[in-house]
Amino acid sequence: MKVFKFGGASVNSIDRIKNLAEIVASYQSSPLVIIVSAMGKTTNALEKVAEAFYQGKREEAIQLFHVVKHQHLNTCKYMLVFKYNACLEQLSDFFTEIEWLLHDKPVRSYDYYYDQIVCLGELLSSCIISHYLNEVNIKNEWIDVRDCMRTNNNFRDADVDWAVTTEKIRATILDLITEENKIVITQGYIGATEDNESTTLGREGSDYSAAIFANVLDAESLSIWKDVDGVMNADPKAYPDAVLINELNYTEVIEMAYYGAQVIHPKTIKPLQNKQIPLYVKSFLNSNLPGTTIHQKKNKNLPPIIVLKNNQALLELKTQDFSFVGEEPIIELYRLFKQLHIKPNLIQTAAISVFICMDDKPEKIEQLALAASHQFDVQIQKGLSILTIRHYNETVLATLSETKDKVLQQQSEETVQVLFK
Ligand code: ASP
Ligand code: MG
Repeated sequence: MKVFKFGGASVNSIDRIKNLAEIVASYQSSPLVIIVSAMGKTTNALEKVAEAFYQGKREEAIQLFHVVKHQHLNTCKYMLVFKYNACLEQLSDFFTEIEWLLHDKPVRSYDYYYDQIVCLGELLSSCIISHYLNEVNIKNEWIDVRDCMRTNNNFRDADVDWAVTTEKIRATILDLITEENKIVITQGYIGATEDNESTTLGREGSDYSAAIFANVLDAESLSIWKDVDGVMNADPKAYPDAVLINELNYTEVIEMAYYGAQVIHPKTIKPLQNKQIPLYVKSFLNSNLPGTTIHQKKNKNLPPIIVLKNNQALLELKTQDFSFVGEEPIIELYRLFKQLHIKPNLIQTAAISVFICMDDKPEKIEQLALAASHQFDVQIQKGLSILTIRHYNETVLATLSETKDKVLQQQSEETVQVLFK
């Protein structure tokens, strides 16, 4: 069994869906589970619907929702002939559910409504794609992943219940894959609680969903189809000299994702690594290219890997009485990170102060600064960027950081991080 994941860019137009079908056609001889994302920027558009609804702007929410609805209806109309009616019926059920919801008044949390609305993107795209594949004789079964992907009710960032999910995925998929039907198509990013409330796994979470399927089904591989040739050592838009990396070790990818490289959703690797399932990052624009293979083998001769994150803030916390920063305040600080869901990008401790660099999310920074102000004098600096280089050498470090107005630097044998203005 193989698992494929197609991201939003690979299904954002009629041509791209036809391209997906061509790729799938060449793999249909053995069992295949296909996980898809919402088309293009649909998730962003649905976020806007959820925001308007929650702010009580019902008309605006309905209007915004109609745009999404008509985009999908148009795609359906231009792609399908024999399967048009069946697809339309299924889409209409999804639309009705949301339209009902939009006529209510919000009485629960924003995150709850967000998930009930935003989960629609993946349901719509997978539904159209499944019907299209059947129409062009690529026989497949569609499933609503919310019947298998069980999560808790931590809306917008739900945690997967592995035991229930494993049992349900195995039972469902093994039942559907037969000699006559080898393909199952379903949604990434979404799940449901035991009360059948929709949940999402965090933005860009489809990679993670695909890794869960691969793990539970003991797949021989997971392929993630993207609009790049594979994993590069830097973002080619910012660094024109970026090169493709043919092979990467699981741990290296975890490190890259940790420092903010937008390669693969950070939670994706662990389920694969636990079962030694290789991950292929391939180009849907040129499916013959080998792409990048991510596996257990140790890497040799990796180029320097460069990750740049903008929009950073630096908090300097200084003890109020000039006493040393001891265990107690540090414990308290980590407790706050947990409570506020903060993931610092860099921490440095000195005798009487702690430096914390984090993404500039104003309300989180405010909450952290307020809580920390009981023990520390807090200073905040904004508008910074953090450059991380793994496997650096002095030349690369000098070239990339020379002209920068450095605020702080942290360096180990493998990794250097430079925070600058
Ligand atoms: N559609 C979701 C998003 O845009 C999930 C994903 O693409 O992985 O975040
Ligand atoms: Mg995406």
